[in-house]
Amino acid sequence: MKRGLFVIAFLAAFSFFAAAQHIPAAPNTPLDSAAVDSEGDELEELDDIDVRATQLPECLAGLFSHDTLILGCDLELLPGKIIVRTKDGDVVYKITPQSLLDTALMNHHPADSIYRFNWTDERVNPYGTLFDSIKDDVRVPMDGFVLPAPGYVTSPYGWRRNRMHKGTDIKVQVGDSIRSAWEGQVRIVGWDPRGYGYFVVIRHENGLETVYGHLSRPLIDEYERVPAGYVIGLGGNTGRSTGSHLHFELRYLGEAINPANVIDFATGKLKNEKEYVIGIKAMKQAKAEQAAMKYHKVRQGDTLSGIAKKYGTSVKALCRLNKIKETKILQIGQKIRVR
Ligand SMILES: [Zn+2]
Repeated sequence: MKRGLFVIAFLAAFSFFAAAQHIPAAPNTPLDSAAVDSEGDELEELDDIDVRATQLPECLAGLFSHDTLILGCDLELLPGKIIVRTKDGDVVYKITPQSLLDTALMNHHPADSIYRFNWTDERVNPYGTLFDSIKDDVRVPMDGFVLPAPGYVTSPYGWRRNRMHKGTDIKVQVGDSIRSAWEGQVRIVGWDPRGYGYFVVIRHENGLETVYGHLSRPLIDEYERVPAGYVIGLGGNTGRSTGSHLHFELRYLGEAINPANVIDFATGKLKNEKEYVIGIKAMKQAKAEQAAMKYHKVRQGDTLSGIAKKYGTSVKALCRLNKIKETKILQIGQKIRVR
């Protein structure tokens, strides 16, 4: 991953906004002169760029902390590399609105305005606190939807064996076509042996991202743009999976949405063909509840009443939380949810 390239992309993104909002362009002055060795250096090789925020217009200064550019996450640009403009080895780069506008356009990924130009293949959710900054409900247009795979649901979204199952499992056979739910651009083609197996993450123009797990074979590459319904891989049984199935996730800014709220898997149709409204308040509440959850690992001699006492709760509450009976025999090493 190239941290430096992210810097340029971030600046490009901001310049793009700046240009659009008629904010005065950044000065054409060198921002740093120490980091470059020779003409034609590429920014990806310059990991730490110190820039004085005072040299920058307000719209860019927000990206700096203690004179250092904030590197929120890593980013890899399109295969076409961006060469830093250096002259006689004394300029790292100049912020010129036109060149940055070109750069921003060149790196246009779907829903960039929502994702603030975050594009990385490192994690399914690399977005940090971006979701938390949304206040109002989000209306997501649904047009162009194609069912990723026909098949019955084998396991729904929700809590399962003390962990959150963030997608819907759909029965498929090894080798079945798995299709992109909307048009979009492939952000990750990954291999996660203890989880998703072979998986694909696609970002869509409507702001959603979809995840397709346990594939036997992905058939696309990262950065590839795909139309809705495009076969992005073949169904399989890779990773943490027993029996071939598609693990399908719907996410918005990294946060998982229950696919069954959006898609009626019995008919293969959308519940609302026009739009889906993401209830931000409810999602934040569910997220807070998940964060507040606490587990106790059962040790020799533990009893439900002992555990309840230890955590200031009741046996009844423990049984409800864990969907167990009061007569349940605890296993050493078992995790009991206590909050
Ligand atoms: Zn699953």
